[in-house]
Formats: sequence, structure tokens, C-alpha cells
Amino acid sequence: MGLKLFNTLTRSVQEFTPLDPAGKHVGMYCCGPTVYDFAHIGNWRTFVFADLTRRYLEFRGYDVKHVMNITDVEDKIIRNVREKKTTLKEFTGKYEAAFLEDLKALGCHAPHVTPRATEYIAEIIAIIEKLMARGIAYKAADGSVYFSIEKYRSCGCTYGRLVKLNFDEMRTGERVASDEYEKESVADFALWKAYVPEDGEVTWDSPWGKGRPGWHIECSAMSMKVLGESFDLHLGGEDLMFPHHEDEIAQSEGATGKPFVKHWLHGAFLLVEGKKMSKSLGNFFTLRDLLAKGYHAREIRYLLISASYRETFNFTLEGLQGARTALARIDECVGKLRELAGATTAGPEGELIAQFTTAMDDDLNVAAGWAAVFDWVRDTNKKLADNSLTAAQAGAALASWEKVNSVFGITAAAQAEAPAEIVALLEARQAARKAKDFKRSDEIRDELKAKGWIIEDSPKGPKLKRI
Ligand code: AMP
Ligand code: ZN
Repeated sequence: MGLKLFNTLTRSVQEFTPLDPAGKHVGMYCCGPTVYDFAHIGNWRTFVFADLTRRYLEFRGYDVKHVMNITDVEDKIIRNVREKKTTLKEFTGKYEAAFLEDLKALGCHAPHVTPRATEYIAEIIAIIEKLMARGIAYKAADGSVYFSIEKYRSCGCTYGRLVKLNFDEMRTGERVASDEYEKESVADFALWKAYVPEDGEVTWDSPWGKGRPGWHIECSAMSMKVLGESFDLHLGGEDLMFPHHEDEIAQSEGATGKPFVKHWLHGAFLLVEGKKMSKSLGNFFTLRDLLAKGYHAREIRYLLISASYRETFNFTLEGLQGARTALARIDECVGKLRELAGATTAGPEGELIAQFTTAMDDDLNVAAGWAAVFDWVRDTNKKLADNSLTAAQAGAALASWEKVNSVFGITAAAQAEAPAEIVALLEARQAARKAKDFKRSDEIRDELKAKGWIIEDSPKGPKLKRI
């Protein structure tokens, strides 16, 4: 049996099969951040979920191309640029850099491609031109270009693939200019927004005059340019199903005539202390807020991936304390195994991997995956206490945990407080030592020293310490 995932398109759990006839390559797109503020813990639930999905696909042997866009032009950004009297580049650049730093801190692999919307204007225009040529888009009196839902539906296409919509109350040709709107106000949506003085310097030339793209068309353009007109997986938070993803499907399929995405995955929302996050309730946390309270990024990551992506998750500070305790149990067990294994290396043993795989194949059932890990910790601790493990068995147990952790991505405890750049140097030194390149390994040690860190080689493995 292979991996099964819930597909919002079919509203059922389906066997995951890539479009690649060889069954190897997988194209995966996750809607990225709108860079107008620091990403909050709810956003991070979705981005860490995307990282987990990618890592599990890789664990299953797929060759994944992971794309996450940066939305660097849309309504909220323009409002901020105007209010703060700054430039688009300066404003979004700051939050983009912070986002990429936080992504690393949370142990997420960098996506292979992170396209910025402002660098895909030509592709956006090309899609709108195709929609115009097919009669599915039209220029309105205000100079903006809209997607015609009526025309799209009269071509035999379905609008309302991810969510059920009621068209009875819809008035043909009614338009919505803003990027965000409710299901009740389904209407023709903006593909290209004609220039208005409030846009300031944020404007591009187009066949329809000066203006800027709507938010929805940006994702169609970036995803299809990087992954092709049809690709395997599209992810995002559940709030994006409508209108964002519904509009992405309509624009893309309307322009190409081909199926856009095979599997749609939506992560459920995160609440904080049982409530929708909001600044006025005082339950709004960015990653930085939580780090400043003394929690570690590894604890936050653990908590975010402790429950199924399809369940609403209640994030609490108490939960973070629980994460600290849970990780300490793993750290202790893994530390003892390292001590016993010494320099012995071995391949992973079967049982933990088999249980973990069964759990994760079932629509990424992380709760069952972690249960397998904690059963293994209990059994291993028992064997360690009985002195019934050989060094080779300890090495194999350690290799099993490391394989599972290639998916969970929990940073090792000793490295948890070191910045990602320092951890990367430590890893490079380990690789150099493994390759017996001692000259390089010494150079890296010196480089770390210059940056204020020393490595202590202990039976438990190398440890980073501040000088
Ligand atoms: P944004 O930067 O607002 O475009 O959102 C980035 C991603 O975070 C999107 O995939 C949203 O669906 C997701 N998101 C926003 N709020 C939450 C939340 N409270 N819980 C989970 N995901 C969220
Ligand atoms: Zn998107």
C-alpha cells in the first residue's frame, strides 16, 4: 500500500499517484506568505505542514520540486506602502528576509523555488491575454480586467470545485474588485486592476493600460511557470479554498484547457487558547514573540506537527511546556543510544520505520507516527536499563530514529540554541570528517571559533558551545 491523502477536489482520501509516468517526480506548490508583517503561528502551522508533506514524500522516495511563492504585491501591501511612505521593495524585502529566517529556525527545508509575484508580471499578462482571447475575461469600464464566471461556466467548466456554491443568487456580471471576499458574494473577480492614484509607484504597463495584478492570478502564473500547466500537489490553509484556490483553478484551466492540479491539500486552522488569533485578544503570536518568551523553535515545531493537519489545532503555552517534556524524553533516550553505539554505525531496524510508515501513509497521521516513536522510546529505555542492547543494536536504533526524524525534522537538542548558520557549519564539519577531509574539518573548526563557537566532541556526538 502507498501513501493516501485527502484530496479537497474529490472530498475523499485517495491513493497518491504522481502525474509523472515514471512515478518519481512530484511538483508541489504551497501558497506562501503575504510579506506585509511577520508570519504568525497560524501561518507557521500551514508552512510547517507543507515542509512535513514534502519531507514525507521524499522519505517515500519521490523526487519533489517544492515551490512556495512570496506574495509581494496585493491590496494589504499597497495600503502599507502608502501609509508608511516607503517603497514596495523596501517594505516587502524586510518581511521576506524575516520569513526566510523564521522558516529556517523552524527546521523547514528551503523550498526549491521561492518565486516573487513582482517578477512574474509577464507571465501574469500572458495568462490574462489567453483568457481574453477565449472570451472568459473582459475589460470593464474602470479599465480593470475581470474574469467572467458566466462565460467560464458556459464553456462547460465548473466554478465551485473545492467548495459548494449557490449560483441562484448570483447576478451575472457583478464584480468584486478586492482580493478577499466571501462565498456569498461570488462574482467576477479582478485579474488586472487599473491604476488608481492610491497605488503610488506600484504599477506596471499592460495591454490594458497601467495597473497591477490581482492576488489570485499571481499564484496561477508562478505555479504553472515553475511546475508546468498541470502539476501534482497544491497546498494552503483552509481559508484559501475560497476564493483564492477556486479562482486559481478557474483562471488556469480557463487559459490552458488542461487540468490544473491533481491533489489539493488544505491545512485546518490554528486557534490560540481556544480562540481565533487576534491582536486585540492578546493571543496573537509571531514565532519571534514565542522565542522571546524562552521557548525553542524545536518545541514550537513539535507542537505544530503533533496533530493531524485536517483537525483544527488549539495552540496553548501549556502545550509548549508539554512539547518540552516530550522532547526531553526523546533526547534522553537518543543520548544514551549515542553513548552506547559510540562509533558503531548501522542501518535502521525495521519495526519503528514500519509503524511510522503505516501511520504516515494514512493521510499523514502524525499522531499515530508520534505514538510509534514514544512506544519505541519506552521499549528502548527498558532495554537500556536491562543492559540488553549491543553497540550495534544501539546504532541501528539510532539510525531508525534519524530516519523518522528526517521527516519530523526536530533539531538535535545540543544544537537547538545555535543559529542555523552555525549548525550548518557543524554539519559541514561532520561531513568533512566522514570524508576524511581533515584539512577542511579543521578549517571549519577555526571558522566556528572566529564566530564564537567551539565544538566539543563527546561520546554523545559533537556539541556546540559558546566560547
Ligand atoms: P497569508 O500570509 O495571510 O497569505 O497566509 C499564509 C498562509 O497561512 C495561508 O496558507 C493561510 O491559509 C495560512 N493561515 C493563515 N492563518 C492561519 C491560521 N490561523 N491557521 C493556519 N493557517 C493559517
Ligand atoms: Zn496562492
